[in-house]
Amino acid sequence: MKLRKVYRFRMRPTKAQEVDLYRMAGARRFIYNWSLDRRKNYYAEHGKGITAKQLSSELTALKQEPDTMWLKEADSQMLQQALRDVDRAFDAFFKKRSRFPRFRSKKAGHFAFRIPQRVRLEDGKVYVPKVGWIRIRQSREVEGKTKSATFKRDATGHWYVALTAEFEMPDVEPPAPRTPVGVDLGLKDLFVLSDGERVRAPKFARKGTNKLRRAQKNLSRKKPGSHRREKAKRRVARVHRKASNQRSDFLHKLTTNLTQEYDCICVEDLSIKGLARTKLSRSILDAAFGEFLRQVEYKATWNFKRSIKVGRFFPSTKLCSNCGVVNPNLTLSDRTWLCCCGTQHDRDLNASRNILAEGLRLVAAGHTETQNARGEPVSLPTGSAA
Ligand SMILES: [Zn+2]
Repeated sequence: MKLRKVYRFRMRPTKAQEVDLYRMAGARRFIYNWSLDRRKNYYAEHGKGITAKQLSSELTALKQEPDTMWLKEADSQMLQQALRDVDRAFDAFFKKRSRFPRFRSKKAGHFAFRIPQRVRLEDGKVYVPKVGWIRIRQSREVEGKTKSATFKRDATGHWYVALTAEFEMPDVEPPAPRTPVGVDLGLKDLFVLSDGERVRAPKFARKGTNKLRRAQKNLSRKKPGSHRREKAKRRVARVHRKASNQRSDFLHKLTTNLTQEYDCICVEDLSIKGLARTKLSRSILDAAFGEFLRQVEYKATWNFKRSIKVGRFFPSTKLCSNCGVVNPNLTLSDRTWLCCCGTQHDRDLNASRNILAEGLRLVAAGHTETQNARGEPVSLPTGSAA
């Protein structure tokens, strides 16, 4: 089984290299927009789509024209990739996965380009075709073969490289669970484990919100187009980035610990969308359940362990983990309840025990083989990006 990891590192280009990076991103944006325009016009003229082959040869011709000869300075693989990206955007549109592809604008901060073939990485440097070796802050070793790389500038003006690496994972079933655990995800406690451990939901985002509000207010007072406005804008972006880094670090530590300590992690497959519609949405998003589940899943896979999703229609809260009776009168506000068998339950702890029991039942019944992530690329933390 082939798995992919995405590594993200901050780049440290020299001033001259930065100019080159902007130029590459500019060429990519130009070709992306040109291709989008070409497709629209071709369709209007012929009533059918232009083929990828024809578009590719038109691109070759474009590089010979006096006005667009500068495109020769950009890596040709990178430009071909831009054509494929437009292809994919249309494909997603026709499959109703996204809206109609839009033009890329400098103003909206589209500074990115992608190199599709194997990317070279050496001594804390990454090779960018037509630019050269650029220093990076490599916070960890890259395992496996590098496949492609995306170079991107964020809103605060920093450049990052995201490398996709592929590695082989022996396709064997993990051994029978010896240290299984059930996890109940909640709002006040981010999770309650079946062995009684509790972790409170982080307040990072909310703390960030005050700061963010101040930064945004400050921004709104600045004159459009002024130098100070640009500065205020970057400040807002920095506050955003800091909060998101904190959340990301917190979740990664949590999921790493969980997958190190236990070998079978049973979690409820929550409907994040359903929950987010309630007034509690802010804290749910803070806690980032979806990301939590995703990380537990791939980290378990990498460590030859199991992550089991228990169906969300399983009555984890209303079921007594002692006698198996379902309590239909339990409401959302009941934090504790007494079962007819005489057991006094903590709502969340009882739920996590039920989730564990159900997870182990699924393992025993052999329903879990297809649950773990297969071949889906996953992103690693940015390391010390802040
Ligand atoms: Zn009971």
